[in-house]
Amino acid sequence: MSSEKPPFLVLSPALQTYAWGKRGSQSEACSLKASADPDFVIDANQTYAELWMGTHKKGPSVIRHPQPLAGTLLSDWLKMNQWALGEVVATEFGGELPFLFKVLSVNQALSIQAHPDKTRAGELHSRAPDKYPDANHKPEMVIALREFEGMCGFRPFSEIQSWVVAVPELQQVLGDKVTEAVATLGEDASPEDQLSVLRLAFSSLMSADPVAVRGQLEALVKRVRAISSSSLSREEQLVCQLDQLYPGDVGCFCLFFLNVVPLSRGGSLFLPANEPHCYLSGDVVECMACSDNVVRAGLTPKFKDKDTLCDMLTYTSSTPDRFRVAPQKDKQSEFSEIYDPPIPEFAVARVSVPAGAGDFSLPPLQGPSILLVVEGEASLSAGELSYDARRGVVLFVSAQTEVKFSPVDRDQQILMYRAYCQLQS
Ligand SMILES: [Zn+2]
Repeated sequence: MSSEKPPFLVLSPALQTYAWGKRGSQSEACSLKASADPDFVIDANQTYAELWMGTHKKGPSVIRHPQPLAGTLLSDWLKMNQWALGEVVATEFGGELPFLFKVLSVNQALSIQAHPDKTRAGELHSRAPDKYPDANHKPEMVIALREFEGMCGFRPFSEIQSWVVAVPELQQVLGDKVTEAVATLGEDASPEDQLSVLRLAFSSLMSADPVAVRGQLEALVKRVRAISSSSLSREEQLVCQLDQLYPGDVGCFCLFFLNVVPLSRGGSLFLPANEPHCYLSGDVVECMACSDNVVRAGLTPKFKDKDTLCDMLTYTSSTPDRFRVAPQKDKQSEFSEIYDPPIPEFAVARVSVPAGAGDFSLPPLQGPSILLVVEGEASLSAGELSYDARRGVVLFVSAQTEVKFSPVDRDQQILMYRAYCQLQS
């Protein structure tokens, strides 16, 4: 009976209203939720930050369809229906959905952060479970839905050096000795020497006297504001913007150390453990291992664990290309491109079906997947179950299930994102 082993479930995702989110329907997270849920009323004054599609207990998705299961948490249903994860994934990940899929709508910068690897996550969790609620690691990947800007990884050393030389207020915060160590390191220095000077400089910034940081930041912003805005670098514009949001916060100086990266639609970044990053603005889908472990360094009123952060970072310095994920053609599906980061928990397929393409299907996968419809409308079916898929609809697709689509309007294109776990190709 299909109702006993449904090939897919339609989900109602959880919407998180953090203060950094975009307001009302400007938020893609909110707009997607409202498009698929006739009962949802948009509050134009509310900030809507994240749409959560998965089983995490801070925002679990609820089943909407098929009707007999409506109102059940996906997490509860999966406990009783391990077959839906596929045998290999269920065994490997202890019977849990291994990833959390999200839409983020960022209006103002999130904290500068890094996520611990598995070993350190376990240590932090056992030492301070209130601050580190999970023992798991949290690699994450973003794919831009619209224009997006973020910071990730340390810049090439020569760029950091140039900024230190060019910004006297940063020199004041770092002190003479550290400034000299950065400024005088030659191009022929060994990677080990570069790494240790970078570690010294960043740790000095993080442990600098907050009163001095605030004073120098005020001086920097005042100096930059006096320059004609058309001749400002992106970094100088950004330091003024960030100082308005987080006055006196040491995170404002971090942008001279970290790569500032714009993404256009379809552009992607993968953030492995122990790499500093920060989302500045824009709308993305994000997929991560199911965890909530964040070590924060700046741009936040929350707890900053600077010692842990400075200790855990890799201090690898490079262009942001190291973090980009180039989508690969999906051999099984002509309309899909796959973003497959080097971790087992998840990959994401971007399914872009041009107008006039006619009926198509998505192949069965070894493990579970979550599908989000961003654009277009199609009637979809799998086994005996069917549903009207349109913008904002979120599906959990059981392992080994082929999903067939028949577009409603053949002149309209369809765009979907599918997060999944597959341990063998
Ligand atoms: Zn993060």
